[in-house]
Order: sequence, then C-alpha cells, then structure tokens
Amino acid sequence: MSTKPSIHGLLLDELATFCNEQKLPAFRAKQIWDWLYTQRVSSFDEMKNLPAPLRGLLGEQFVFQTLKKLETKGEAGETQKLLFELADNEWIETVIIPAPRRQKNTVCLSSQVGCVYGCAFCASGQKGVIRNLSAGEIVGEVLEVTRELGARPNNVVFMGIGEPFDNYDEVMKSIRIMNHPDGLAIGARKITVSTCGVVPGIERFSEEGIQVELSVSLHGTDDQTRSCLMPVNESWPLDELMNACEAYTTQTNRIITFEYTLIKDLNDSAVQARELVKLLRRFPCRVNLIPLSPVEEFEGERSTPEAMKAFFQTLEKAHINATLRDSKGVGLKAACGQLRSRRL
Ligand code: SF4
Repeated sequence: MSTKPSIHGLLLDELATFCNEQKLPAFRAKQIWDWLYTQRVSSFDEMKNLPAPLRGLLGEQFVFQTLKKLETKGEAGETQKLLFELADNEWIETVIIPAPRRQKNTVCLSSQVGCVYGCAFCASGQKGVIRNLSAGEIVGEVLEVTRELGARPNNVVFMGIGEPFDNYDEVMKSIRIMNHPDGLAIGARKITVSTCGVVPGIERFSEEGIQVELSVSLHGTDDQTRSCLMPVNESWPLDELMNACEAYTTQTNRIITFEYTLIKDLNDSAVQARELVKLLRRFPCRVNLIPLSPVEEFEGERSTPEAMKAFFQTLEKAHINATLRDSKGVGLKAACGQLRSRRL
C-alpha cells in the first residue's frame, strides 16, 4: 500500500500551503481543486492546464485514486450498493438511495473498515474494527457515487460501516471538503453524521460551529434493553447520552434526529413508546422509526405493522415529530445495519 497521501484528502488551504512550499503560483491550488471537484477528472494527466512537470510532481507526492469499484448491486434509479476495494485490499460498501419523485439522491457513506461497537442487529460490527478511513477515501466514496450517478448526490449521511465519531478528525475533514463551495459544494444541512451514542463525540461536535445535521441511534428506552442491543450503552448510558443531546441542542440550537429501530417484543411495546416520549420531551427533536432489516447474526424480528403504527401514534399524540420509515434496500442487504466490510 502506498504511503503517499491522497490528493482528495487535502483541504484547499493545505493544497495552497503545498503550492507555496513548492514555490508555485498561488492560483495553482484552486486550479487543481477545480480539476478534482468541478471537472472530476480521474488522473493527474487529465489536468490539462497544468504544466507537465507540475503534474509529475503531484503524481510523485500524492496518490490519486484509492478506491476500486468491484461491484454495483441494484438497478440505476433504485437503491444501489457499491462494493469498493481499498488500496490495502480491505473492503467497504457505500449505498445510493434515490428519491426519483424529488429527483434527489442520498449517499450513505462508510467511515471505517468494520466497527468496534458490535450492535446486535448490525452486520458491520460483527468482526470488530480494522481501521479508520482517511478523509481522501471518504471523499472518494462521494466521487465514485457522483460518477455512477452522473451528478453530485444531494444528501450525504454517515450511516454506513463504522462509527463516524471514532474517526472524528478524518470525518470532519471530509465534510469540510464536501461542503466547500469550491469542493463538492454539498450544503452543510444536507450532510448528516450519525452516531451510536458516543458522548465525547457529541460534545466535540457541538463545538464545531457548522450546520451539519446530527442523528443519534437510540433503539432502547431503558439501559437494560439498550445495552443488550447496543454495547456502547455500557460506556455511555442513556442518562448521560440524553444529557449530552440536550446540551448539544441548547448550545447549537439545532435539532437532533433520533433513530429507533422497531424490534418485535423487544423495544416496540406501548410502555416503551410512552418511555420514549418521556425521554424526548425534554428538548425539540425528530424521531425516525425504522423497521428492522434482517441480518443472519441477529434473531430479532421486525415489529408487526400494527405495533409499528401504534408506536408511531403514541409519539404523534405526544406531539413528537416522528416518521415511520421504509427500510430501503433490504433485498440488496443495503439497509441500516446490513453493510459489511468483507465480501460475501
Ligand atoms: S450500528 Fe453503527 S455503531 Fe453499531 S455496530 Fe453497526 S456500524 Fe457500528
């Protein structure tokens, strides 16, 4: 594996510093970024308005492409799952979720190879974490999706393989590259970071001063249920998590979206719906109720349609802003919790 950094992992300022160190004119940094993110070329050689020696220098100092697409599952215009090989032969998956009626596409990004948290219903964390993705690899996922779609995705969600706050710096760097008007120019409010409840990450994120959305996976209304589904709850129990969420909301004036996967006879009772109302009444928020997506490793079953509807109505009656989601891509194993960092 090359030890050279990825050109896609550099902020515009960092590229400007590189150009300055190389005694290159200041405008070169912007020119290179334009090739990377507006023209979206596939090699340094295609950067036609750069002098050949500069293209050679870039090739010596940086790697261009670190993701190799091995497979696309699913039809264009429907949910698709892209399998990528990384430079060290590890695998990640990235999902495209289109909303054809609104002519929008959401990309679900991986942030790590594997995941340390081992949530019971999730295939991604069953083998632990192998390594973090670099900012260049994360931006590479978006660029590959852009190539696949022929256009930039409208929404980006960090809900693929990995816990984004465990790879905080590289995830934030990739967000700054995606969000930069001269980069991929994806609006901050169109980017969502999703955490399983890593409290120090939430606290740090509240200091960022950016308008990126935050989503928190809850899936349980008491410590016993949540710890059994999400071992992360042992480190940061519900009380601590909800205090951090409330502090985040107060500090940023932003609304958190809570993800709650409905599992039959485990977290979908009327009592649990009322408990959820009590937990979330403390501050404004949204809730996504998600039907369980099956994985071999977890025996839990999807809630019945009646139970899901009743759960939803309890939240609605309590004026909690809730949505009962469709789990897209289940057949492709591209839905929440079904992604893997190895090929099956
Ligand atoms: S749900 Fe998220 S945090 Fe939990 S194991 Fe899967 S990838 Fe990791």
